[in-house]
Amino acid sequence: MAPSPQRKVIPIQPAEPQEVSLYAAHQKIYPRAVTGAFARWRWVMVWCTQLVFYGLPWLEWGGRQAVLFDLEARRFFLFGLVLYPQDLIYLTGLLVISAMLLFLFTAVAGRLWCGFTCPQTVYTEIFLWIERRVEGDRSARMRLDRAGMTAEKLARKSAKHMLWIALALWTGFTFVGFFSPIRELGSHLLQWQTGPWETFWLFFYGFATYGNAGFMREQVCKYMCPYARFQSAMFDRDTLVVSYDAVRGEPRGARSRTADPRVLQLGDCVNCTLCVQVCPTGIDIRDGLQYECIACGACVDVCDTVMDKLSYPRGLIRFATQNGMDARWNRRQMLRRVLRPRVLLYSGILATLCTALLASLWLRTPLKVDVVRDRAVLARIVSGGQLENVYRLQIMNATESAQHYRITANGLPGLSVASEPGVDVEAAQSRWIAVRLHLPYTAASPGSHPIVFEIDGTGGARVAEKSVFLVPR
Ligand code: SF4
Ligand code: SF4
Repeated sequence: MAPSPQRKVIPIQPAEPQEVSLYAAHQKIYPRAVTGAFARWRWVMVWCTQLVFYGLPWLEWGGRQAVLFDLEARRFFLFGLVLYPQDLIYLTGLLVISAMLLFLFTAVAGRLWCGFTCPQTVYTEIFLWIERRVEGDRSARMRLDRAGMTAEKLARKSAKHMLWIALALWTGFTFVGFFSPIRELGSHLLQWQTGPWETFWLFFYGFATYGNAGFMREQVCKYMCPYARFQSAMFDRDTLVVSYDAVRGEPRGARSRTADPRVLQLGDCVNCTLCVQVCPTGIDIRDGLQYECIACGACVDVCDTVMDKLSYPRGLIRFATQNGMDARWNRRQMLRRVLRPRVLLYSGILATLCTALLASLWLRTPLKVDVVRDRAVLARIVSGGQLENVYRLQIMNATESAQHYRITANGLPGLSVASEPGVDVEAAQSRWIAVRLHLPYTAASPGSHPIVFEIDGTGGARVAEKSVFLVPR
């Protein structure tokens, strides 16, 4: 029997404990200014959205604010429409349509909403514009931040913050102006007489704007926005995303303007890093598609200017689909893939929802009625041997003119309205009234009997509301 080989024992050394920090300090991003087609489009969207936001509350419609969500009076004015809380279904419909629109846009063109119309992008763009006017472009801002405090730095920083705060407060004021008549709000504000909620929301919204657009910026998109998290579920390989053409660009490297990259065995990327410097989220799109990319197109614009200077074809960074990039499709071939099942499904649902919402708005009766039984008096016998039930009716006039409403009740033989059978309600107002119903004593057996109130307006609006008439034993 062969002797067993001697075993070698290797002592196990305890591993040195290593501390891994999960915290990374925030690196401030100094986006460089950029010009180009997408930058122009972004400013067009800034103007469009802000003209609507800042301008809408000042618009008049028939002697009142055109768009007003009057929470105190529980009435919502949308141009010619007067909506009550009972019309919440329309608001729900509008929100569902907005969500479907977002899904559709995302499936077709990625995060276009984020890059061009999201309030976070829009206000960051405006705040950045102020910052550039006061402190200069990227390198000047970086120098200023590195420098010690001087009179000039103090003046520039103070001026920037004053302008930011003024804009943020105006934004907060405008926001509250959608819920409280803005002209009255303005005069109350001048006299320091705004209500507690108005004051709270004005400063809260203003503070949120100042913080999000002035300081948080890309961190809102990266860490706070839920849309950034689930948008990938709506992406597929035929969705347009900002893409770096690595086949064309690599190997990257610096070269003189006159050098032939083929001779140098270089791709078209000159590694100038301008695409990183203009990126508002501070990413390098050459590393591939990243969730931080908000599809603003700034890197596309700046790379095109670099390509122009070198007389290379534009589009080293461009909006393209993954399939298009892999198969080297041209724009027409890519766009042909837009009408795929997912997009058709979203479009179909969207068209159905829009049609349903428009039809229900068109068919909507401009009168709402709530019937509440008077709990203090269930039923009683009054003079003439009549049984009496008392109700409270809220009649909401959803038209722009005063209306007279006639109230009738039926459902039991001999049932009649003993109180005033008519009521006047001012334009876009609501009124609570007490209604007494009488029934001959022997007309119905003891118990609860279904009845119907019918309310007819002079404008032709008609509403029937169910209730019950109680006959005591
Ligand atoms: S801007 Fe264009 S050329 Fe410059 S580093 Fe970016 S991809 Fe390369
Ligand atoms: S990678 Fe380009 S498109 Fe994406 S956020 Fe940065 S600059 Fe905008």
